[in-house]
Amino acid sequence: MKNLLYQWDTDALPSVFDSVVAYDGGADHVVSYGGVTPDRVGPLVEGAIFTRGPKDKRHTAIFVGGSDLIAGEALFKAVQKKFFGKFRVSLMLDSNGANTTAAACVALLSNGRSLEGMSATVLAGTGPVGQRAAVMLAREGVIVTLTGRQLEKTRAVCDALEKQFDVRLSAVAAPDLDSRARSVMDANIIIATGAAGVVLLEEKHWSGLPKLQLVADANATPPAGIEGVDMMDRGAHRHNALTYGAIGFGTLKLALHRACIGRLFQQNDLVLDATEIYAIAKEMVGQSHGEKP
Ligand code: NAP
Repeated sequence: MKNLLYQWDTDALPSVFDSVVAYDGGADHVVSYGGVTPDRVGPLVEGAIFTRGPKDKRHTAIFVGGSDLIAGEALFKAVQKKFFGKFRVSLMLDSNGANTTAAACVALLSNGRSLEGMSATVLAGTGPVGQRAAVMLAREGVIVTLTGRQLEKTRAVCDALEKQFDVRLSAVAAPDLDSRARSVMDANIIIATGAAGVVLLEEKHWSGLPKLQLVADANATPPAGIEGVDMMDRGAHRHNALTYGAIGFGTLKLALHRACIGRLFQQNDLVLDATEIYAIAKEMVGQSHGEKP
């Protein structure tokens, strides 16, 4: 029985990245659809759930992706609404790589140490990766501040996350380098999740911070989101903090994404979103990856 992955993307052109990782994660065949919306997904789900007998349903799975996390979440919900009883297949959400990227990053930061009670600033956290990273940190007991350039938008993002994930987040407007420098002054952890190639923090603004312990930058497109962090950093010692760059934790992100795909084919009722993907990331860190704290 072949492992079939239905890659349903909310963008017009389905992600090539997601389809390559799907093959590498254990799919025998990947069927990619673009422009999938909640109102058109019904017949697609029916095709996936009504075609194989109970013991073979695990060989069919669905991956929801695309660049828009909000659209992805709506599609993810619509797919689950069509499931009933045993008529379901395993399902994963990873719009823009948000869950796997954030999970890899936060799992590395929390490896071998408790983050409970620490304070973190997620710079430019209003995008998909920042939102998920903020939730994962908050679930670790971290007091999280999320910044964006506009207060209203940042607050709306935090409110939505608080409702969806039952966490507490503070929204701060930080439209320029100086205001972002102020937003990290008391932080133990800084994670930058800004758009590719945008410098969010200068080195002089974090190099002397007395409480800072952990710094991560998700941006893999030069210049770095946090000046002074190398994209290859994976627990490098810089200015009394441990630093992680986008490629440094990107290898775990890729391994995690593949592992999640593999797990979809082990049962027919797995649902992988932020919580579950973060749990898998934590399992992987320190085990097969032999990470050092
Ligand atoms: P995104 O949605 O493109 O951007 C995140 C936020 O950046 C936006 O919500 C926006 O916030 C802010 N922003 C945009 N332009 C800005 C500017 N000129 N100045 C200041 N802030 C600006 O990002 P994402 O998809 O969440 O991804 C975050 C980062 O992770 C990106 O750099 C992406 O390339 C990287 N990434 C890395 C990996 C990996 O494996 N390492 C995987 C996926 C993605 P406001 O409008 O609210 O200010």
